[in-house]
Amino acid sequence: MIFYPNIYLDNVKEISLNLLKENNIKGLLLDVDNTLIDFNLKILDGSKNWCENLKKEGIKICILSNTNKIEKVKKVAKELDLQYINFAKKPFKNGFIKAMNLLQLDAKNIAVAGDQIMTDILRWK
Ligand SMILES: [Mg+2]
Repeated sequence: MIFYPNIYLDNVKEISLNLLKENNIKGLLLDVDNTLIDFNLKILDGSKNWCENLKKEGIKICILSNTNKIEKVKKVAKELDLQYINFAKKPFKNGFIKAMNLLQLDAKNIAVAGDQIMTDILRWK
């Protein structure tokens, strides 16, 4: 098992439609803590627009969070109008497989974004 990110960005909104298209990505799995919300549980400014724009272009987005704080994830999912899976137990496969099934996409067409290399950004080679 090898852990490495394909790309480092300052924040999730830097994931552009072009970047996704160039990499043949049709689905995004987003972490919550320190990715969509900050330490104060505030949703990242502009993230709603960012999600809307990607969704309009056919990108499927799902929240995949390890938190067991269901209300927190629900709130973010509702605000951003996204599907969600909580208590995902990343980096184990089950949550990712659940998300793949939810998005109806192959793994090769899905990108994962998060702040923790060891849990969010995992690839099997
Ligand atoms: Mg996180």
